[in-house]
Amino acid sequence: MLSPVTLLLITAALCVVMLFVLGSLARSSMPGLHAWRAANVLAFVALLLYAGRGVLPGLLTIEGANGLLALSIAAIHVGFRKFFGQTAPYRLLAAGWLATVAGVAFFHYVFDAIAMRTVVVSLFHGLVCAAIGVTVLRSLAQARARYPFYFTAGVALLLAVAHLGRGLMYALQPDMQTAFYQATTWNLVFLSVGTLVLPLLTMGAVMMVHDRLLAEADDRANRDYLTGAWTRRALFQMADHELRRARRHSHPVSLLVLDVDRFKQINDSQGHAEGDRVLVDLVRRTGSMVRDIDCFARLGGEEFALLLPYSGAAAAMQVAQRLRQLLEQPAPGALPLTAYTVSIGVATLAPEEPFSTLLGRADAALYEAKHAGRNLVRLAETA
Ligand code: GH3
Ligand code: MG
Ligand code: MG
Repeated sequence: MLSPVTLLLITAALCVVMLFVLGSLARSSMPGLHAWRAANVLAFVALLLYAGRGVLPGLLTIEGANGLLALSIAAIHVGFRKFFGQTAPYRLLAAGWLATVAGVAFFHYVFDAIAMRTVVVSLFHGLVCAAIGVTVLRSLAQARARYPFYFTAGVALLLAVAHLGRGLMYALQPDMQTAFYQATTWNLVFLSVGTLVLPLLTMGAVMMVHDRLLAEADDRANRDYLTGAWTRRALFQMADHELRRARRHSHPVSLLVLDVDRFKQINDSQGHAEGDRVLVDLVRRTGSMVRDIDCFARLGGEEFALLLPYSGAAAAMQVAQRLRQLLEQPAPGALPLTAYTVSIGVATLAPEEPFSTLLGRADAALYEAKHAGRNLVRLAETA
């Protein structure tokens, strides 16, 4: 049977492997990476200290090892909180950690009972693992793919149950554990589970970092460089998805096409840079008005499209008028911006209509608005 020392050394080696894996992400400067790296260093040292039981002084192999391993799981938790942009409960973790180390020292020097030390340590690890699981599940909305989240939360919650179960078992039957190296099946099972915590949670963290890097790359590919609006390509993709959904559930979809009036004049009289500022302002102010489910994209030049799911002609006309009125107001900001207006064409999706036709109708309505004098909204004929 595998001896506990071998197990500890293998896991210590795994921590080193995890440090190399984390090293591959160093350039991403993702929040949480420092904490996860620190956790694996701490765990590596802690596991070597555990393995030195009987050779090194008890203060190192008992208080030192348990203190460092507890600190490492706390660091993993801090890493996840930072990764999700949440503040870490430093005080609570510090208090829990101090109580754990004090408990270990008490059941070492005052009342020597190895089973009770295991109870104290398991309680801290179990609670922190549970907190990690809950943190990850609560941040599911940030996921691009759910798999890394379910993996990490699943691992964390399973480990929480294992740790708390171990604590409970030894609390009820302290005679079960009489020595650290005891090669009983239960001791080995718990030791394996306990030592695998760090590598497994680090793997989950790495998967989530990859998920976020992919999401960021996707986002960059689908955003217009100047204004940050969605690109034409992204609009067509989202429209495809949205139109399919609209047909399946027969809810309305509308499209606005807007174009800055006499933009060439702004460029010619104020310079191209001022023209660019107008485009940036237009996207910023429009963005503050639209819903999360709407897709606001730059079609090209000074022409934009706004896809409105769940909106019929009346609602879309209202949005268009509000937007037109908003943009004719002077732009807020320290540096004054040239006044500008927009013309808007509105079209509502007809049954079986392809997106290109919907876009064509909205464009035709925009042309009518331009023709009628600009700074106007026009609704397209029904298809
Ligand atoms: P209308 O009211 O009929 O829309 O007139 P307009 O001047 O806005 O239309 P036109 O299509 O004649 O001019 C569009 C101008 O937009 C021409 C082009 O140089 C300019 N343009 C296209 N892309 C950009 C850009 O990214 N930045 C700036 N500053 N100008 C751009
Ligand atoms: Mg124009
Ligand atoms: Mg134009």
